[in-house]
Amino acid sequence: MCGIVGYIGEEQAAPILLDGLSKLEYRGYDSAGLAVRDGDALAQVVKAKGRLSNLVEKTDNGNALKGTCGIGHTRWATHGAPSDINSHPHMNNAGTIAVVHNGIIENYIPLKKKMQDKGYQFVSETDTEVLAHLLDYYYKGNPLEAITKVLHRVEGSYALGIMFADQPDKIFAARKDSPLIVGKSDNGSFIASDVPA
Ligand code: GLU
Repeated sequence: MCGIVGYIGEEQAAPILLDGLSKLEYRGYDSAGLAVRDGDALAQVVKAKGRLSNLVEKTDNGNALKGTCGIGHTRWATHGAPSDINSHPHMNNAGTIAVVHNGIIENYIPLKKKMQDKGYQFVSETDTEVLAHLLDYYYKGNPLEAITKVLHRVEGSYALGIMFADQPDKIFAARKDSPLIVGKSDNGSFIASDVPA
């Protein structure tokens, strides 16, 4: 279980997310990733295996990702080897829902099978990816309804940061048996898996 940071506000999100993730490095991790919203698109997802400095380099210190709303993650792999593909955020097939997750989805194998039978394509070996496809399946325009339906079907522990392409200026968060806190400042709102971030 590792780190989550989310930011939404007036500042550029990516440098804030990287700074927050750097404050969670002490917890240990094997890879890191960011999703930053740019206008209507959620397409800006960058992931890097290894040190956070790889992600810093890949994103030019966050300057390559423009946008004021985003989620970031440092991963400590439980399901699937450390790799760029297994790093978070994970997305639905349409690339319109992004999820970062700390914890373990214990019943992900039957859920994955069910979603594969419905035609969903999995690209990673993680337990987390099933959440992105389940959210896609249940999302009919109401994020809280979709998230609630998904979490009723999931067993295990989670702290989650979620963004939907058609929900601008919003980050959704949920937790069970994994820490996640919410913070507010004059220039924005934050989620984080631990106080230092
Ligand atoms: N179980 C997830 C994975 O292996 C999340 C691990 C974490 O908490 O960093 O990708």
